[in-house]
Parts: sequence; C-alpha cells; structure tokens
Amino acid sequence: MQPTGSLHIGNLEGALRNWVRLQQNYDMYACIVDWHSLTGSMDDLSGLRERIFQMAVDFLSAGLDPKHVAIFIQSDVKEHAELHLIFSMLITVPTLTRLPTYTEKKEAHDTYGFLGYPVLQAADICLYNAHKVPVGKDQEKHIWLANDVAKRFNQSFGETFVEPQALFTEIPLILGADNRKMSKSYDNHIPIDYSDKETEARVRTFITDPQKLRKNDPGRPEICPVYLLHRVYTADHAEEIAPNCRSGQLGCVECKLRAAKSVNTSLAPIREKRADLLTKPEFVWEVLDDGASRARTRAQEVMGRVRASMNMNYRESRS
Ligand code: ADP
Repeated sequence: MQPTGSLHIGNLEGALRNWVRLQQNYDMYACIVDWHSLTGSMDDLSGLRERIFQMAVDFLSAGLDPKHVAIFIQSDVKEHAELHLIFSMLITVPTLTRLPTYTEKKEAHDTYGFLGYPVLQAADICLYNAHKVPVGKDQEKHIWLANDVAKRFNQSFGETFVEPQALFTEIPLILGADNRKMSKSYDNHIPIDYSDKETEARVRTFITDPQKLRKNDPGRPEICPVYLLHRVYTADHAEEIAPNCRSGQLGCVECKLRAAKSVNTSLAPIREKRADLLTKPEFVWEVLDDGASRARTRAQEVMGRVRASMNMNYRESRS
C-alpha cells in the first residue's frame, strides 16, 4: 500500500482484513510502497517518513503480526528497482496506456514513472514469487499484468516466476460518500484513525438512493453505499436494515446513524491499539527493520535466480 495518507475502511475491508486472515497460513510480505507514492506527487516528501510510520501503525493495529508477516518499506529492498527495470522491457507502452488507472489520471500525472507504476507493482509481487495477492477489486487489472509479465519472462528465459493471482475479500469494493470507489484521492473516505464523531459526520454526507427523497419513501439498499457499510459492519442488516429501507419504515438519517455506530463499534479495538502503538515508535521502526531484512533475503534469492535465467550472473558463470 502507498503511504499517501491515512488508511481508510476501503483499504481495510478490501485488502488488510484478508492479510490478517491469511497470515497464519502463508509466508507473507506486506510492503509499504514509498517509491510508488512518488508517482502521484513529490511535493510533500518531508512528511513521507511520518506517513510510512503511520501506515506501519495501521497495519499492526489491524492485527498484522510481525512474527508471521514481513512488514517493510519498499525502498529498503533495492531489488524492487532492479526487477522493475528488467520487467519494463517485457511490457509494451500501449498495454500500459490502455489501463483504466492511467486513462483516468493521465491529465494530472503525465510522467514516465506514473505510466510505469503497474510494472513496478508487478516487480513488487514477483520479487517474492507470490502465488496470491490479496487486493481490492480496483487492482484486478494490475495483478493480471503481473501475471502476464511473469508468463512472458518464463517463456523467454525458462520457468523462474510463479504466475500470481489476485485474491479478493467477500466485499472487494467499498464505496465512498459520493458513491464512487472509496479512495484517499477522492476525499470520500472514512479513515481508520477518525474519531467516532468524525466518522458519524462523514457517514452523514454519504449519498443514498436518489429516489428516496422523503423519510418514508421506499429505498433500494442494493444501490446504496450506506447499505454497503451495513453489509460489512451491521450483523442484522439482512433482517433489520434492508426490509425496513425497502418498506420506507427506515429513513436515511436514522440508517446513517446506525451505520456510523456499527463502523465505530467494529473499529474501536483497532483505534485503541493504534493509540497504544503511537507511544511506541521504536518498536514500530524495529518491526520495519526486521521486515526489511527478511524481505531482502527472499528478494536476493529470487533475483539471483532471475540473473542466472538471463545469463546475467557474470561472476558466477566465470568459474
Ligand atoms: P487509495 O485508492 O485510497 O489510494 P490504494 O490504491 O493505496 O488506496 O489501495 C491499497 C489497497 O486497498 C489495494 O489493495 C486496493 O485494492 C485496496 N482498496 C483501496 N480502495 C478500496 C476500496 N474502495 N474498496 C476495496 N479495496 C480498496
């Protein structure tokens, strides 16, 4: 994940929950991709260190256990840049310019780095020979691209990489206040570190069914982003919320208050752990150091195989 600001419940429910669920059973790497964050803007790099720290705190508060998962900063493992360079020879420019993430933002970000960031992402994944990549639905095409690059490399140089697959949660796309994908860049999100009051205020701004103009009008939960919050956070949503919305018994104001309460109840333990970790910065930086050292070992091993496959291990082939 990019350290571009506070983690929000889209990141949490679309990706991080799966990381926590899977960490016991997989060899797992959780990378804070600081190089990726440069593709958006390089205006405020003085805050980058703090944003990285906050993201590590978010990961730990959500339940990632550093004993099971290597949590690390991308730029601490230089092999990401090396593999990115090699992969950039295997992808054509039209493949990248066709990606929706590029077409949507190219007016604002028209750099070589932004165009190529899915290639760097493919390197981030393949450097660990990852089988599964637990991401939100918005990343599906990028994982497909990583799979394609791995295939191309294997075809050209022999079986070296696993072909990675995306792994989604049950609700892989959380919508924001404006009914678009919840995202920091749209400012329609609910950050994990919001207070209960801030959460409630944000949920109040959510768009609901445009046909439900008055409190007692019947609503359509299936098209409402507030109902999506209930699906994730309210246990009795199917029996309580949906039928009462459809029948017009439940108005949007009351429905939003209940959604905010459910979000706050579910996030309370994470917020509590967050507050505690903020008082232990040394521990958090140790987690990142240890994660980098474990990631580096794995990355160097895979890069060794890549160089050998490409006949670029010059020193070793001399003997
Ligand atoms: P943002 O769009 O807020 O900048 P990122 O691009 O850093 O978020 O995404 C980090 C992870 O969170 C990715 O795995 C992404 O798929 C997931 N994610 C982001 N937004 C959502 C969302 N609204 N719903 C589900 N998953 C999401």
